[in-house]
Amino acid sequence: MTNATELTVEPIIGLEIHVQLATRTKMFCGCPLEFGAPPNTRVCPVCLGLPGALPVINRQAVELAVRAALVLNCRIATFTKWDRKNYYYPDLPKNYQISQYDLPISSDGYFELTCDGQPRRVGIIRAHLEEDAGKNVHDFPGYTGVDLNRAGTPLLEIVTQPDLHSADEAREFAVQLQRLVRYLGVSEANMQEGHMRFEPNINLRIISGGQEFRTPIVEVKNLNSFRSLYLAVQYEIDRQLEQWRETGETAAMGNKSNRGWDDVKEITLPQREKEEAHDYRYFPDPDLVPMTFDPAWVGQLQSEMPELPIRRTERFVAEYRIPAQDAPALVDDRRTADLLDSAAAAGGDKVTLAKHFLSFWAKHANERATTVAGLGIAPQRLAELANLVQAGKVNATAAAQIAEAMLSSSDSPTALAERLGLLQSRDTDQIAAWVDQALAANAQAVQDAIANPKKIKAARGFLTGQVMKLSGGKADPKIVGELIEKKLAEKTGGNH
Ligand SMILES: [Zn+2]
Repeated sequence: MTNATELTVEPIIGLEIHVQLATRTKMFCGCPLEFGAPPNTRVCPVCLGLPGALPVINRQAVELAVRAALVLNCRIATFTKWDRKNYYYPDLPKNYQISQYDLPISSDGYFELTCDGQPRRVGIIRAHLEEDAGKNVHDFPGYTGVDLNRAGTPLLEIVTQPDLHSADEAREFAVQLQRLVRYLGVSEANMQEGHMRFEPNINLRIISGGQEFRTPIVEVKNLNSFRSLYLAVQYEIDRQLEQWRETGETAAMGNKSNRGWDDVKEITLPQREKEEAHDYRYFPDPDLVPMTFDPAWVGQLQSEMPELPIRRTERFVAEYRIPAQDAPALVDDRRTADLLDSAAAAGGDKVTLAKHFLSFWAKHANERATTVAGLGIAPQRLAELANLVQAGKVNATAAAQIAEAMLSSSDSPTALAERLGLLQSRDTDQIAAWVDQALAANAQAVQDAIANPKKIKAARGFLTGQVMKLSGGKADPKIVGELIEKKLAEKTGGNH
């Protein structure tokens, strides 16, 4: 468009993501992390914030944070410290949260993802450790309860650059980050249990009549599903454009705001004005020592990094010859991807294995609400079944039946194929007998075909089908084809 109403709108989106780390115990005490435990039963003087209780750093949480930071290509701090973020809220009995302010554990990284099949890089400003607050429970008429089981849960807060430009991209980032932290074992990233929470910062860059305008930045708080992240970002994009058209208000100092998400009405609603950092009176926590990291230890963690999903996808497409759109089904669950590699390493035909994983193994996994790896079948047996198909000993339909039997039997796929009578017959005499039978039963059609060479191809296909039927699906189709060819050639004197 080149008329006077020409308008370019570019959403500018950054994300803050809280990821719950997969530790057994809390960040600064030994209380177990257990979702759904009765309220205030997983607490101690430290996480209750009782006077005189001293925090002790959870080493595993630090290690998981460093692993995540490395995969986000962040610089790992050689010196990092803990700060108190002071605020007063019922779910925070200490009246401060232990977090990291000016010296986070890691910073300056990027995350590689694919959007619409295109590689994209999203800058990571920082990723720091902190503890979660408790939870207010509004289940009682007239008053509110506080459950402190969650207080002190280790969180990694990841802050991205405002490098995302649509609701789709924001969701894609979140989905691929979830896959990544699961791959690393850094987090279970279970959305239902609140292991990942998103807070997008959104505003618009609008170009109108040759002038550039930026709408005020809005932070939407506490989104706990991919769907609400997507919908909230999309809602804000539309709402901010609308508001800009009505009021012309643009970003200036101090007009950032927080909004909440109403999951029922699917709208954002204004919340209290956003605090600035100085409102929190950050200061170093005197109860916790700063941390320094030995480069050799960081190097060790780096060397233990698994093959990441984005690279594995490329390799699977090339090695297993699968279409790119099927890759997530094989790659997203690390144990399933590892199993496929193990089955291939056990000598299984790669292309056949991938087909089996995507078809009947995926189906059985879905029916049992698990993953293919969760079916618990040894890689050697998966490989053996794939090779029975590859060698022409069983056909594809039979393979699915054998797979089903494998789920409840520890016998080898070959033994099961024999027991179920599914091994293809490679007995040439037997197949020849079936071919003769099929030819005799369709003598007229065969004569027609011989008289009219245009019909010969259709006749061959028809006869093959008849022989397969006579054999109960057990005849090796390759041998059947060869024998039919030979018999027809004999009848025509070898002219076809
Ligand atoms: Zn505790």
